[in-house]
Amino acid sequence: MAVPKRKTSPSRRGMRRSHEALPREAHAECPNCGELKRPHHVCSHCGFYDGREVVPAGDALKGAVRA
Ligand SMILES: [Zn+2]
Repeated sequence: MAVPKRKTSPSRRGMRRSHEALPREAHAECPNCGELKRPHHVCSHCGFYDGREVVPAGDALKGAVRA
C-alpha cells in the first residue's frame, strides 16, 4: 500500500482546505414585510410572492428549504 512519506503539515492542510469554504446563501429583503428571503422564492414570513399572497401567512411552509 502506498504510504505518504511525510506528515501533512498544518500549513499544507490549510492550503488544501482553502477551497472548501461554503458559498454564502443568497438572500434579499422581502418587499412586503422586509424580512430576509431567498430570491425568486415565496417569502417564508408573510407568504407573499410577486405582490400577492400565495401561501396563507403564518402557515409553516412544509417542505420549504430553509427559513
Ligand atoms: Zn415577506
